[in-house]
Amino acid sequence: MTSDGIDARLAGVIRRVERAAERAGRSPDEVEILPVTKGHSADAIRSVAAAGLRAIGENRVPEAEAKRAEIGPTPGVAWHMIGRLQRNKARRAVRLFDAIESVDSVRLAETLHRIVCEEERDPVDVLVQVNTADESAKTGFRSDEAVSGARAVAELSGLRVAGLMMMAPFTSDEGVLRSAFREASRLFERCRDEIPKFEGRTLSMGMSNDFELAVEEGSTRVRLGTVILGER
Ligand SMILES: *Cc1c(COP(=O)(O)O)cnc(C)c1O
Repeated sequence: MTSDGIDARLAGVIRRVERAAERAGRSPDEVEILPVTKGHSADAIRSVAAAGLRAIGENRVPEAEAKRAEIGPTPGVAWHMIGRLQRNKARRAVRLFDAIESVDSVRLAETLHRIVCEEERDPVDVLVQVNTADESAKTGFRSDEAVSGARAVAELSGLRVAGLMMMAPFTSDEGVLRSAFREASRLFERCRDEIPKFEGRTLSMGMSNDFELAVEEGSTRVRLGTVILGER
């Protein structure tokens, strides 16, 4: 995809986010777009940076490391880990990423905390991943354990819990999607109300095929790959 192509696609995406926000009586300024560059070349990161986007999402540590080795540091562009993180790759993730959106267990959070302390770096920004559809195949805290899980993660001084992240079920059923997003929003509000150390800035939900519904239901960050960069 050329830079011009990305600019055009991005303009269309921004319009769709704006319209979705307006339908819900929200300000479009509340919603940020995280371009997901996984499966695309390292050049895609340069392209989205040139288009003015300030962060990118990658879902695998080795792929992200290879791209970083190829393009070097990217001042002004934060790297977000959005995929399942195995604990044996946690140290590499802490070294590479500016934020980890996929903290899906207290054990992983404790490992990250220990590494941040050992490496003597500033607390790492994280999101607690919730699974509001209760599909056994997906990771994350189930609805009934999300608030206590977020509370436990927020207690760890090596982590700053900016908010929640969720992945919707793989379906085009609008009712199913909407209720999963709505449940994540409800958990987000509860965490904000009940957990003093929960910063509550970010509710990361919505992908290429469902981001408008996610925005209507309260998302503050949509993670978009295909709709911006094309098929992988
Ligand atoms: C791949 C991925 C996305 C983006 O997917 P698209 O459907 O291409 O927009 C968003 N979030 C996560 C966690 C992903 O792995």
